[in-house]
Amino acid sequence: MTAGPLGSYREKRRPGRTPEPIPDNVAVPTKRGRRPTFVIQEHHASSLHWDFRLEHDGVLASWALPKGLPVFPDANHLAVQVEDHPLEYGKFSGTIPKGEYGAGKVSIWDRGRYDCEKWRPREIMVVLHGKRAKGRYVLFPTKGNNWMIHRMDPAPEGVEPLPSRIQPMLATAGQLPPDDGDWAYEFKWDGMRVLIWIDGGRPRAVSRNDKDVTDSFPELRAFGEAMGSRQALLDGELVVLGADGKPSFARLQHRMHASSPASVRNAAASNPVSLVIFDLLHLDGTSLIGLDYDHRRTALEDLDIGASGWAITPSFTSDDGRRVFRTAVDLGMEGVVAKRRTSTYQAGRRSRDWIKVKNQHMREVVIGGFTEGNGSRRGDFGALLLGVPSSTEHRRLTFVGKVGTGFSDRSRAEIASDLKRMVRGTSPFDGRLPTAVDKAVTWVTPKLVGEVRYSELTSDGHLRHPVWRGLRADKAARDVRRES
Ligand code: MN
Repeated sequence: MTAGPLGSYREKRRPGRTPEPIPDNVAVPTKRGRRPTFVIQEHHASSLHWDFRLEHDGVLASWALPKGLPVFPDANHLAVQVEDHPLEYGKFSGTIPKGEYGAGKVSIWDRGRYDCEKWRPREIMVVLHGKRAKGRYVLFPTKGNNWMIHRMDPAPEGVEPLPSRIQPMLATAGQLPPDDGDWAYEFKWDGMRVLIWIDGGRPRAVSRNDKDVTDSFPELRAFGEAMGSRQALLDGELVVLGADGKPSFARLQHRMHASSPASVRNAAASNPVSLVIFDLLHLDGTSLIGLDYDHRRTALEDLDIGASGWAITPSFTSDDGRRVFRTAVDLGMEGVVAKRRTSTYQAGRRSRDWIKVKNQHMREVVIGGFTEGNGSRRGDFGALLLGVPSSTEHRRLTFVGKVGTGFSDRSRAEIASDLKRMVRGTSPFDGRLPTAVDKAVTWVTPKLVGEVRYSELTSDGHLRHPVWRGLRADKAARDVRRES
Protein backbone atom coordinates (compact mmCIF):
# COMPACT_ATOMS: atom_id res chain seq x y z
CA MET A 1 0.00 0.00 0.00
CA THR A 2 1.27 3.40 -0.95
CA ALA A 3 0.51 6.22 1.50
CA GLY A 4 -2.23 8.80 1.02
CA PRO A 5 -5.95 8.36 0.30
CA LEU A 6 -5.36 7.60 -3.41
CA GLY A 7 -1.85 6.15 -3.26
CA SER A 8 -2.88 2.67 -4.31
CA TYR A 9 -5.14 4.02 -7.08
CA ARG A 10 -2.36 6.21 -8.52
CA GLU A 11 0.22 3.48 -8.35
CA LYS A 12 -1.81 1.13 -10.60
CA ARG A 13 -2.34 3.67 -13.38
CA ARG A 14 -0.08 5.42 -15.89
CA PRO A 15 -1.02 9.05 -16.68
CA GLY A 16 -1.17 9.63 -20.44
CA ARG A 17 -1.64 5.92 -21.16
CA THR A 18 -5.11 5.56 -19.63
CA PRO A 19 -8.08 7.95 -20.06
CA GLU A 20 -9.04 7.56 -16.38
CA PRO A 21 -8.75 10.68 -14.16
CA ILE A 22 -5.56 10.69 -12.06
CA PRO A 23 -5.93 13.58 -9.61
CA ASP A 24 -3.65 14.59 -6.74
CA ASN A 25 -3.31 12.25 -3.82
CA VAL A 26 -5.89 14.04 -1.68
CA ALA A 27 -9.41 13.38 -0.47
CA VAL A 28 -12.18 15.88 -1.18
CA PRO A 29 -14.46 16.05 1.86
CA THR A 30 -18.21 15.95 1.30
CA LYS A 31 -19.90 19.28 2.08
CA ARG A 32 -21.97 19.25 5.24
CA GLY A 33 -25.64 18.59 4.68
CA ARG A 34 -25.14 17.12 1.19
CA ARG A 35 -26.07 13.52 0.55
CA PRO A 36 -23.08 11.51 -0.67
CA THR A 37 -23.02 10.06 -4.19
CA PHE A 38 -22.72 6.53 -5.49
CA VAL A 39 -21.96 5.13 -8.92
CA ILE A 40 -22.17 1.68 -10.50
CA GLN A 41 -19.98 1.19 -13.57
CA GLU A 42 -20.34 -1.75 -15.94
CA HIS A 43 -16.80 -2.84 -16.71
CA HIS A 44 -16.10 -5.22 -19.60
CA ALA A 45 -12.61 -6.12 -18.40
CA SER A 46 -11.08 -9.58 -18.89
CA SER A 47 -14.03 -10.68 -16.78
CA LEU A 48 -17.26 -8.66 -16.82
CA HIS A 49 -18.15 -7.02 -13.50
CA TRP A 50 -19.93 -4.03 -12.05
CA ASP A 51 -17.92 -1.58 -9.93
CA PHE A 52 -19.90 -0.29 -6.98
CA ARG A 53 -18.54 2.94 -5.50
CA LEU A 54 -19.73 4.91 -2.48
CA GLU A 55 -18.53 8.42 -1.72
CA HIS A 56 -17.02 8.34 1.76
CA ASP A 57 -14.34 10.46 3.47
CA GLY A 58 -13.61 12.32 0.25
CA VAL A 59 -12.97 9.29 -1.97
CA LEU A 60 -15.05 6.55 -3.64
CA ALA A 61 -14.86 3.38 -1.55
CA SER A 62 -15.05 0.64 -4.19
CA TRP A 63 -16.08 -3.00 -4.71
CA ALA A 64 -16.15 -5.10 -7.87
CA LEU A 65 -19.40 -7.10 -8.15
CA PRO A 66 -18.99 -10.05 -10.59
CA LYS A 67 -22.78 -10.54 -10.80
CA GLY A 68 -23.86 -6.97 -10.21
CA LEU A 69 -26.25 -5.67 -7.58
CA PRO A 70 -28.70 -8.28 -6.21
CA VAL A 71 -32.38 -7.58 -6.89
CA PHE A 72 -33.72 -10.23 -4.50
CA PRO A 73 -32.99 -10.47 -0.77
CA ASP A 74 -32.54 -14.26 -0.89
CA ALA A 75 -29.27 -14.30 -2.85
CA ASN A 76 -26.24 -12.35 -1.65
CA HIS A 77 -23.71 -11.33 -4.28
CA LEU A 78 -19.95 -11.33 -3.99
CA ALA A 79 -18.36 -7.86 -3.71
CA VAL A 80 -14.56 -7.79 -3.97
CA GLN A 81 -13.13 -4.75 -2.28
CA VAL A 82 -10.71 -2.79 -4.47
CA GLU A 83 -8.69 0.37 -3.99
CA ASP A 84 -10.42 3.68 -3.20
CA HIS A 85 -11.09 5.72 -6.34
CA PRO A 86 -11.07 9.52 -6.69
CA LEU A 87 -14.44 11.30 -6.72
CA GLU A 88 -13.83 12.32 -10.35
CA TYR A 89 -14.03 8.65 -11.27
CA GLY A 90 -17.79 8.77 -10.66
CA LYS A 91 -18.25 10.45 -14.03
CA PHE A 92 -15.81 8.29 -15.95
CA SER A 93 -16.84 6.19 -18.92
CA GLY A 94 -14.61 5.14 -21.76
CA THR A 95 -12.24 2.44 -22.88
CA ILE A 96 -9.12 1.60 -20.92
CA PRO A 97 -6.55 0.51 -23.54
CA LYS A 98 -5.11 -2.99 -23.82
CA GLY A 99 -2.12 -3.53 -21.58
CA GLU A 100 -3.28 -0.98 -18.99
CA TYR A 101 -4.75 -1.87 -15.60
CA GLY A 102 -8.44 -2.82 -15.97
CA ALA A 103 -8.32 -2.80 -19.79
CA GLY A 104 -11.80 -2.80 -21.34
CA LYS A 105 -14.92 -0.71 -21.74
CA VAL A 106 -16.40 1.15 -18.78
CA SER A 107 -19.92 2.62 -18.85
CA ILE A 108 -22.05 4.17 -16.13
CA TRP A 109 -24.80 1.72 -15.25
CA ASP A 110 -26.36 4.01 -12.68
CA ARG A 111 -25.43 6.88 -10.40
CA GLY A 112 -27.19 8.96 -7.79
CA ARG A 113 -27.19 9.76 -4.11
CA TYR A 114 -27.49 7.57 -1.09
CA ASP A 115 -28.24 7.73 2.62
CA CYS A 116 -25.58 6.24 4.87
CA GLU A 117 -27.20 4.36 7.75
CA LYS A 118 -24.06 2.67 9.11
CA TRP A 119 -20.37 2.84 8.24
CA ARG A 120 -18.36 0.47 10.37
CA PRO A 121 -15.28 -1.57 9.49
CA ARG A 122 -17.38 -4.76 9.18
CA GLU A 123 -20.79 -3.41 8.24
CA ILE A 124 -21.85 -0.74 5.77
CA MET A 125 -25.55 -0.06 5.36
CA VAL A 126 -26.84 2.29 2.68
CA VAL A 127 -30.10 3.28 1.00
CA LEU A 128 -29.58 3.89 -2.72
CA HIS A 129 -31.63 6.48 -4.59
CA GLY A 130 -30.61 5.81 -8.19
CA LYS A 131 -32.67 5.35 -11.32
CA ARG A 132 -32.02 1.61 -11.49
CA ALA A 133 -30.43 0.94 -8.11
CA LYS A 134 -32.92 1.66 -5.36
CA GLY A 135 -33.35 0.36 -1.84
CA ARG A 136 -31.49 -0.67 1.28
CA TYR A 137 -28.31 -2.72 1.01
CA VAL A 138 -25.75 -3.97 3.47
CA LEU A 139 -22.11 -4.86 2.75
CA PHE A 140 -20.08 -7.07 5.08
CA PRO A 141 -16.63 -8.72 4.76
CA THR A 142 -16.20 -12.50 4.67
CA LYS A 143 -12.56 -13.32 3.95
CA GLY A 144 -9.64 -11.16 2.80
CA ASN A 145 -10.91 -8.63 0.25
CA ASN A 146 -14.11 -10.58 -0.26
CA TRP A 147 -17.30 -8.97 0.95
CA MET A 148 -20.93 -9.82 0.34
CA ILE A 149 -23.67 -7.42 -0.63
CA HIS A 150 -27.18 -8.19 0.56
CA ARG A 151 -30.46 -6.51 -0.36
CA MET A 152 -32.41 -5.77 2.82
CA ASP A 153 -35.62 -4.57 1.16
CA PRO A 154 -37.96 -6.97 -0.59
CA ALA A 155 -37.57 -7.13 -4.37
CA PRO A 156 -39.12 -4.13 -6.12
CA GLU A 157 -42.84 -4.55 -6.63
CA GLY A 158 -43.86 -6.71 -9.57
CA VAL A 159 -40.39 -8.13 -10.14
CA GLU A 160 -40.57 -11.88 -10.75
CA PRO A 161 -37.55 -14.08 -10.09
CA LEU A 162 -35.91 -15.93 -12.95
CA PRO A 163 -37.28 -19.50 -12.78
CA SER A 164 -34.49 -21.86 -11.76
CA ARG A 165 -35.81 -24.83 -13.75
CA ILE A 166 -38.10 -25.13 -16.71
CA GLN A 167 -38.65 -27.65 -19.49
CA PRO A 168 -38.75 -26.49 -23.09
CA MET A 169 -41.96 -26.43 -25.13
CA LEU A 170 -41.89 -29.15 -27.80
CA ALA A 171 -43.27 -29.23 -31.31
CA THR A 172 -45.55 -31.92 -32.75
CA ALA A 173 -44.47 -33.51 -36.04
CA GLY A 174 -46.94 -32.84 -38.82
CA GLN A 175 -47.88 -31.16 -42.08
CA LEU A 176 -47.89 -27.46 -42.91
CA PRO A 177 -50.94 -25.78 -41.33
CA PRO A 178 -53.47 -23.87 -43.45
CA ASP A 179 -52.34 -20.42 -44.62
CA ASP A 180 -54.89 -18.51 -42.59
CA GLY A 181 -52.59 -15.85 -41.14
CA ASP A 182 -52.59 -17.53 -37.73
CA TRP A 183 -49.09 -18.97 -38.12
CA ALA A 184 -45.51 -17.76 -38.07
CA TYR A 185 -42.82 -19.91 -39.68
CA GLU A 186 -39.26 -20.36 -38.50
CA PHE A 187 -36.50 -22.48 -39.99
CA LYS A 188 -35.89 -25.74 -38.17
CA TRP A 189 -32.21 -25.80 -37.22
CA ASP A 190 -30.38 -29.12 -37.17
CA GLY A 191 -28.68 -28.78 -33.82
CA MET A 192 -29.06 -29.22 -30.10
CA ARG A 193 -31.89 -27.56 -28.19
CA VAL A 194 -30.84 -25.51 -25.16
CA LEU A 195 -32.46 -23.21 -22.66
CA ILE A 196 -30.09 -20.41 -21.69
CA TRP A 197 -30.20 -18.46 -18.46
CA ILE A 198 -28.32 -15.15 -18.35
CA ASP A 199 -27.73 -13.61 -14.95
CA GLY A 200 -25.03 -11.10 -14.09
CA GLY A 201 -23.50 -11.52 -17.54
CA ARG A 202 -23.00 -15.27 -16.96
CA PRO A 203 -24.69 -17.92 -19.11
CA ARG A 204 -26.07 -21.25 -18.01
CA ALA A 205 -27.14 -23.68 -20.73
CA VAL A 206 -29.32 -26.71 -20.06
CA SER A 207 -30.10 -29.43 -22.63
CA ARG A 208 -33.36 -31.28 -23.27
CA ASN A 209 -32.46 -33.99 -20.76
CA ASP A 210 -31.86 -31.43 -18.00
CA LYS A 211 -28.06 -31.57 -18.19
CA ASP A 212 -26.06 -28.43 -17.51
CA VAL A 213 -23.92 -28.21 -20.67
CA THR A 214 -22.49 -24.72 -20.08
CA ASP A 215 -18.90 -25.93 -19.71
CA SER A 216 -19.10 -27.85 -23.01
CA PHE A 217 -19.81 -24.65 -24.96
CA PRO A 218 -17.33 -21.94 -23.86
CA GLU A 219 -18.52 -19.77 -26.79
CA LEU A 220 -21.57 -18.89 -24.69
CA ARG A 221 -19.45 -16.80 -22.32
CA ALA A 222 -19.17 -14.02 -24.89
CA PHE A 223 -22.94 -14.09 -25.36
CA GLY A 224 -23.45 -13.72 -21.60
CA GLU A 225 -21.13 -10.74 -21.49
CA ALA A 226 -22.88 -9.14 -24.44
CA MET A 227 -26.17 -9.38 -22.53
CA GLY A 228 -24.55 -7.25 -19.78
CA SER A 229 -26.77 -6.76 -16.74
CA ARG A 230 -29.90 -8.05 -18.47
CA GLN A 231 -31.41 -11.01 -16.70
CA ALA A 232 -32.96 -13.35 -19.25
CA LEU A 233 -34.14 -16.84 -20.07
CA LEU A 234 -33.90 -17.74 -23.75
CA ASP A 235 -34.79 -20.76 -25.85
CA GLY A 236 -32.66 -21.72 -28.80
CA GLU A 237 -30.54 -24.20 -30.67
CA LEU A 238 -26.77 -24.70 -30.76
CA VAL A 239 -25.56 -25.43 -34.28
CA VAL A 240 -22.24 -26.08 -35.97
CA LEU A 241 -22.03 -24.74 -39.50
CA GLY A 242 -20.26 -26.94 -42.03
CA ALA A 243 -17.85 -25.76 -44.73
CA ASP A 244 -20.89 -25.18 -46.99
CA GLY A 245 -22.40 -22.79 -44.41
CA LYS A 246 -25.21 -25.24 -43.65
CA PRO A 247 -25.89 -26.66 -40.18
CA SER A 248 -23.97 -29.91 -39.75
CA PHE A 249 -25.33 -32.33 -37.20
CA ALA A 250 -22.35 -34.61 -37.86
CA ARG A 251 -19.89 -31.89 -36.82
CA LEU A 252 -21.98 -30.98 -33.78
CA GLN A 253 -21.49 -34.59 -32.67
CA HIS A 254 -17.86 -33.82 -31.84
CA ARG A 255 -19.02 -31.05 -29.52
CA MET A 256 -21.66 -33.16 -27.80
CA HIS A 257 -19.11 -35.88 -27.10
CA ALA A 258 -16.40 -33.62 -25.62
CA SER A 259 -16.40 -33.45 -21.84
CA SER A 260 -12.92 -32.84 -20.38
CA PRO A 261 -11.70 -29.21 -20.53
CA ALA A 262 -8.94 -30.15 -22.99
CA SER A 263 -11.26 -32.04 -25.35
CA VAL A 264 -13.79 -29.18 -25.16
CA ARG A 265 -11.06 -26.70 -26.15
CA ASN A 266 -9.97 -28.85 -29.09
CA ALA A 267 -13.51 -29.51 -30.26
CA ALA A 268 -14.43 -25.81 -29.96
CA ALA A 269 -11.41 -24.80 -32.03
CA SER A 270 -12.28 -27.12 -34.92
CA ASN A 271 -16.09 -26.96 -34.72
CA PRO A 272 -17.26 -23.66 -33.19
CA VAL A 273 -20.95 -23.49 -32.33
CA SER A 274 -23.36 -20.70 -33.05
CA LEU A 275 -26.37 -19.96 -30.90
CA VAL A 276 -29.63 -19.51 -32.77
CA ILE A 277 -32.22 -17.93 -30.50
CA PHE A 278 -35.95 -18.31 -31.12
CA ASP A 279 -37.74 -17.43 -27.91
CA LEU A 280 -37.55 -15.15 -24.88
CA LEU A 281 -39.22 -16.49 -21.73
CA HIS A 282 -38.10 -14.02 -19.06
CA LEU A 283 -36.52 -10.59 -19.11
CA ASP A 284 -35.42 -8.36 -16.24
CA GLY A 285 -37.96 -9.43 -13.65
CA THR A 286 -40.84 -10.07 -16.05
CA SER A 287 -42.02 -13.48 -17.17
CA LEU A 288 -43.06 -13.69 -20.82
CA ILE A 289 -44.23 -17.30 -20.72
CA GLY A 290 -47.90 -16.32 -20.57
CA LEU A 291 -47.63 -13.89 -23.49
CA ASP A 292 -48.52 -14.94 -27.03
CA TYR A 293 -45.94 -15.69 -29.69
CA ASP A 294 -46.18 -12.29 -31.39
CA HIS A 295 -45.53 -10.41 -28.14
CA ARG A 296 -42.64 -12.67 -27.13
CA ARG A 297 -41.18 -12.30 -30.61
CA THR A 298 -41.34 -8.49 -30.44
CA ALA A 299 -39.61 -8.53 -27.04
CA LEU A 300 -36.94 -10.86 -28.43
CA GLU A 301 -36.27 -8.61 -31.43
CA ASP A 302 -36.14 -5.57 -29.12
CA LEU A 303 -33.14 -7.14 -27.36
CA ASP A 304 -31.31 -6.06 -30.49
CA ILE A 305 -28.64 -8.71 -30.22
CA GLY A 306 -26.65 -10.32 -32.96
CA ALA A 307 -22.98 -10.90 -33.52
CA SER A 308 -20.87 -13.49 -35.27
CA GLY A 309 -21.51 -16.14 -32.61
CA TRP A 310 -25.26 -15.74 -32.10
CA ALA A 311 -28.38 -14.57 -33.88
CA ILE A 312 -32.14 -14.47 -33.60
CA THR A 313 -33.71 -16.87 -36.09
CA PRO A 314 -35.87 -15.15 -38.70
CA SER A 315 -39.64 -15.44 -38.33
CA PHE A 316 -41.92 -15.27 -41.36
CA THR A 317 -45.56 -14.35 -41.00
CA SER A 318 -45.97 -15.02 -44.70
CA ASP A 319 -49.32 -16.32 -45.88
CA ASP A 320 -47.42 -18.89 -47.94
CA GLY A 321 -45.96 -21.49 -45.59
CA ARG A 322 -44.99 -23.72 -48.49
CA ARG A 323 -42.69 -21.04 -49.88
CA VAL A 324 -40.96 -20.64 -46.50
CA PHE A 325 -40.59 -24.42 -46.37
CA ARG A 326 -39.01 -24.54 -49.86
CA THR A 327 -36.64 -21.71 -48.93
CA ALA A 328 -35.64 -23.58 -45.76
CA VAL A 329 -34.90 -26.73 -47.74
CA ASP A 330 -32.92 -24.78 -50.36
CA LEU A 331 -30.82 -23.28 -47.56
CA GLY A 332 -30.04 -26.75 -46.21
CA MET A 333 -32.33 -26.57 -43.19
CA GLU A 334 -34.19 -29.55 -41.77
CA GLY A 335 -37.54 -27.94 -42.48
CA VAL A 336 -39.71 -25.40 -40.68
CA VAL A 337 -41.52 -25.03 -37.39
CA ALA A 338 -44.93 -23.40 -37.71
CA LYS A 339 -45.94 -21.56 -34.54
CA ARG A 340 -49.44 -20.37 -33.74
CA ARG A 341 -49.16 -16.63 -33.25
CA THR A 342 -51.72 -16.49 -30.43
CA SER A 343 -50.16 -19.34 -28.44
CA THR A 344 -48.40 -19.00 -25.09
CA TYR A 345 -45.18 -20.84 -24.21
CA GLN A 346 -46.27 -24.23 -22.91
CA ALA A 347 -43.25 -25.32 -20.89
CA GLY A 348 -42.59 -29.07 -20.83
CA ARG A 349 -45.44 -29.85 -23.26
CA ARG A 350 -45.48 -31.25 -26.75
CA SER A 351 -47.99 -28.88 -28.24
CA ARG A 352 -50.00 -28.72 -31.46
CA ASP A 353 -49.40 -24.95 -31.41
CA TRP A 354 -45.88 -25.69 -32.68
CA ILE A 355 -45.75 -27.99 -35.70
CA LYS A 356 -42.43 -29.23 -37.04
CA VAL A 357 -42.49 -30.03 -40.73
CA LYS A 358 -39.41 -31.91 -41.86
CA ASN A 359 -37.87 -32.23 -45.27
CA GLN A 360 -36.90 -35.84 -44.73
CA HIS A 361 -38.06 -38.65 -42.52
CA MET A 362 -36.08 -38.72 -39.33
CA ARG A 363 -36.58 -40.71 -36.20
CA GLU A 364 -35.04 -40.86 -32.77
CA VAL A 365 -34.23 -44.40 -31.73
CA VAL A 366 -32.77 -46.30 -28.79
CA ILE A 367 -29.97 -48.81 -29.36
CA GLY A 368 -30.87 -52.23 -27.95
CA GLY A 369 -28.09 -54.38 -29.39
CA PHE A 370 -25.60 -54.83 -32.19
CA THR A 371 -24.45 -57.48 -34.63
CA GLU A 372 -20.89 -58.66 -35.00
CA GLY A 373 -18.76 -56.85 -37.60
CA ASN A 374 -17.12 -58.69 -40.48
CA GLY A 375 -13.78 -58.11 -42.19
CA SER A 376 -12.41 -54.69 -41.32
CA ARG A 377 -15.27 -54.26 -38.86
CA ARG A 378 -14.28 -57.31 -36.84
CA GLY A 379 -14.25 -56.41 -33.14
CA ASP A 380 -16.42 -53.40 -33.95
CA PHE A 381 -20.10 -53.73 -34.86
CA GLY A 382 -21.86 -54.55 -38.12
CA ALA A 383 -25.22 -52.95 -37.48
CA LEU A 384 -27.12 -51.43 -34.56
CA LEU A 385 -30.50 -52.84 -33.54
CA LEU A 386 -32.95 -50.06 -33.02
CA GLY A 387 -36.10 -49.72 -31.00
CA VAL A 388 -38.46 -47.20 -29.48
CA PRO A 389 -39.69 -47.49 -25.89
CA SER A 390 -42.68 -49.84 -25.61
CA SER A 391 -45.82 -48.01 -24.62
CA THR A 392 -46.13 -49.57 -21.19
CA GLU A 393 -42.56 -49.62 -19.96
CA HIS A 394 -39.73 -47.40 -21.10
CA ARG A 395 -37.03 -49.92 -20.25
CA ARG A 396 -38.42 -52.29 -22.92
CA LEU A 397 -38.12 -51.59 -26.64
CA THR A 398 -40.24 -52.26 -29.67
CA PHE A 399 -37.99 -53.20 -32.59
CA VAL A 400 -38.05 -50.71 -35.51
CA GLY A 401 -35.07 -51.76 -37.63
CA LYS A 402 -31.32 -51.99 -37.85
CA VAL A 403 -28.80 -49.55 -39.27
CA GLY A 404 -25.34 -50.32 -40.65
CA THR A 405 -24.56 -47.23 -42.77
CA GLY A 406 -23.94 -43.54 -42.25
CA PHE A 407 -21.20 -43.89 -39.62
CA SER A 408 -17.87 -42.13 -39.83
CA ASP A 409 -14.90 -44.18 -38.56
CA ARG A 410 -14.75 -41.92 -35.56
CA SER A 411 -18.44 -42.10 -34.65
CA ARG A 412 -18.34 -45.90 -35.13
CA ALA A 413 -15.44 -46.15 -32.67
CA GLU A 414 -17.14 -43.86 -30.15
CA ILE A 415 -20.40 -45.77 -30.26
CA ALA A 416 -18.62 -49.15 -30.07
CA SER A 417 -16.77 -48.08 -26.93
CA ASP A 418 -19.99 -46.71 -25.36
CA LEU A 419 -21.85 -49.94 -26.13
CA LYS A 420 -19.15 -52.16 -24.64
CA ARG A 421 -19.99 -50.71 -21.24
CA MET A 422 -23.69 -51.51 -21.64
CA VAL A 423 -23.54 -55.16 -22.68
CA ARG A 424 -25.99 -57.50 -20.97
CA GLY A 425 -27.20 -61.07 -21.40
CA THR A 426 -30.87 -60.56 -22.20
CA SER A 427 -32.75 -58.85 -25.01
CA PRO A 428 -34.36 -55.48 -24.18
CA PHE A 429 -36.80 -55.97 -27.07
CA ASP A 430 -40.40 -57.05 -26.58
CA GLY A 431 -41.42 -60.08 -28.60
CA ARG A 432 -39.46 -61.85 -31.25
CA LEU A 433 -37.13 -60.07 -33.67
CA PRO A 434 -37.57 -60.55 -37.42
CA THR A 435 -35.72 -63.60 -38.70
CA ALA A 436 -33.64 -61.34 -40.98
CA VAL A 437 -31.75 -60.07 -37.93
CA ASP A 438 -28.49 -61.93 -37.35
CA LYS A 439 -28.37 -64.64 -34.75
CA ALA A 440 -25.07 -63.28 -33.36
CA VAL A 441 -26.54 -60.31 -31.52
CA THR A 442 -25.00 -58.70 -28.44
CA TRP A 443 -27.66 -57.09 -26.26
CA VAL A 444 -27.16 -53.79 -24.48
CA THR A 445 -29.06 -51.88 -21.82
CA PRO A 446 -31.32 -49.51 -23.80
CA LYS A 447 -29.79 -46.14 -22.88
CA LEU A 448 -28.05 -44.71 -25.95
CA VAL A 449 -30.28 -42.50 -28.08
CA GLY A 450 -29.51 -41.84 -31.73
CA GLU A 451 -31.13 -40.41 -34.80
CA VAL A 452 -31.62 -42.02 -38.20
CA ARG A 453 -32.98 -40.84 -41.51
CA TYR A 454 -35.10 -43.32 -43.53
CA SER A 455 -37.09 -43.51 -46.76
CA GLU A 456 -40.43 -44.79 -45.46
CA LEU A 457 -42.10 -47.03 -42.91
CA THR A 458 -42.99 -50.61 -43.82
CA SER A 459 -46.49 -51.91 -43.11
CA ASP A 460 -45.28 -53.40 -39.81
CA GLY A 461 -43.82 -50.08 -38.70
CA HIS A 462 -40.16 -50.77 -39.46
CA LEU A 463 -37.78 -48.20 -40.93
CA ARG A 464 -36.88 -48.76 -44.59
CA HIS A 465 -33.30 -47.85 -45.64
CA PRO A 466 -32.28 -46.24 -42.35
CA VAL A 467 -29.05 -44.19 -42.36
CA TRP A 468 -27.30 -43.20 -39.13
CA ARG A 469 -27.20 -39.45 -38.36
CA GLY A 470 -25.64 -39.37 -34.93
CA LEU A 471 -25.98 -39.90 -31.21
CA ARG A 472 -28.38 -37.70 -29.26
CA ALA A 473 -26.40 -37.27 -26.07
CA ASP A 474 -28.86 -34.52 -25.18
CA LYS A 475 -31.79 -36.91 -24.97
CA ALA A 476 -32.82 -39.68 -22.61
CA ALA A 477 -34.26 -43.01 -23.81
CA ARG A 478 -37.57 -42.34 -22.04
CA ASP A 479 -38.03 -39.15 -24.12
CA VAL A 480 -37.98 -41.08 -27.39
CA ARG A 481 -41.45 -41.29 -28.84
CA ARG A 482 -43.28 -43.72 -31.03
CA GLU A 483 -44.26 -41.43 -33.86
CA SER A 484 -47.10 -42.30 -36.16
MN1 MN B 1 -13.45 -2.57 -12.58
